[in-house]
Amino acid sequence: MIRKVKKIFTYPVLAGLLVLGLSLNYLAVEKVDAAYNHLVGKKWSSTSVNYDIAGGFTSDQKSMIKDTTNGWNRNCPTTFNYNLLTGNDWSVENIDSLGLTILSLNSSDNIIKAVTKIDTDPAIATSFSTSSSQYDFTSIARHEWGHWIHLYDDKTHQSTMYESLSKGEKGKLQTAEDIEACNYMY
Ligand SMILES: [Zn+2]
Repeated sequence: MIRKVKKIFTYPVLAGLLVLGLSLNYLAVEKVDAAYNHLVGKKWSSTSVNYDIAGGFTSDQKSMIKDTTNGWNRNCPTTFNYNLLTGNDWSVENIDSLGLTILSLNSSDNIIKAVTKIDTDPAIATSFSTSSSQYDFTSIARHEWGHWIHLYDDKTHQSTMYESLSKGEKGKLQTAEDIEACNYMY
């Protein structure tokens, strides 16, 4: 069987900014506070952010959405709280990628709303266990939370913010760069 790598995320609105800030030398040699300068300013005005989970998820998937906030809440200044009817929703929709997070910014570059859509793809795992023919839901959820903080996709394959996910692949963690970035931004 050939594993299909499916793009986990697309970020059309702000992708251009990332491209402008990217060059191999720049990323290789700059300290994190310089490398993440392009992210600064675009953040939640409060570090306590409520979210809601809409219908369409299994109970295991809901648990995984909640569980995957833990690493971000522990390592970053932001805290995501499960709270009904906030307008910041997770939902299931037919999209191109496995997950898609859309951030709304106000004129002061503060994030005022975030929504995450998870694809209807039947290959996305519906329980805590992920087979070799399934996309790991925990990995998708943890990745999308990174976007809520305003982290971008990255090119480090072991990173939770890596742009693609293969079937059966799991266990990716936040990198030191992810943690440094969120702490620098907030
Ligand atoms: Zn992404």
